[in-house]
Amino acid sequence: MIDSHAHIDFKEFDSDSEEVIKRFFKGGGEKIINVGCDLNSSIRSYELAKNNENIFASAGIHPHDAGTVNKNSLKKIEDLVKHYKVIAVGEIGLDYFRNLSPQEKQIEAFKSQLELADNHNMPLIIHCRDAYNDLLDILKNYQTSDWRGVIHCFAASWQIAENFLELGFHIGFTGIITYYKDKSKLGNEPEIYKVIRNIPLDKILIETDCPFLAPVPERGKRNEPLFVKYVAEKIAHIRKTSFEEIEKATSENAIRLFNL
Ligand SMILES: [Zn+2]
Ligand SMILES: [Zn+2]
Repeated sequence: MIDSHAHIDFKEFDSDSEEVIKRFFKGGGEKIINVGCDLNSSIRSYELAKNNENIFASAGIHPHDAGTVNKNSLKKIEDLVKHYKVIAVGEIGLDYFRNLSPQEKQIEAFKSQLELADNHNMPLIIHCRDAYNDLLDILKNYQTSDWRGVIHCFAASWQIAENFLELGFHIGFTGIITYYKDKSKLGNEPEIYKVIRNIPLDKILIETDCPFLAPVPERGKRNEPLFVKYVAEKIAHIRKTSFEEIEKATSENAIRLFNL
């Protein structure tokens, strides 16, 4: 069981991060990727990874903080990705839902970090909210077509998922997928179920995005890496397969994609 997207360095874990990490490994967890979202959290992720054999880090600047992407911060991210425990550039991307940075600035910050990842041959951890078309445009028009990475916390249609799969991306699922009822009053199932069923098994990753998005039955509480098991359970339920199959496949996928 690998939590491919956690933020254990956030203040929500200040008092008990060590116990949280222990609980994960005792409960069957194998590895955690702690994801940076600005310069400071990228440094903290790197420190965490340096001190824990089975924790890895990513470094990157989130679209919310696109305004802090400049020559100086990019150089510091670049220094971090040279370390062997830093295994991806991310989370980077576009977020038009909250629009905490102007869209043009987000696009510019995303492009410059794509280039950084490309120069260092690093996989990507991509955050995208309400901006799938712009994001796809940028990726399709970039000079490489050989993408490695994950679209994390995926929450869009099968048609959009297919586009990312064609480009070579993996798709990551969080506790959000446990928030739906299996069938609506009209008897329809949520679109995300179709996405989960149609994706090739070797392209699926599981993640918590903790401290946010705790899955059912822990919904509303602080999320933590151990709860990634509920995401795997839900995927198994939707695909009518066993938890063990999903656990094994998603671990293999994360290890292969990020070279853990
Ligand atoms: Zn994100
Ligand atoms: Zn995140």
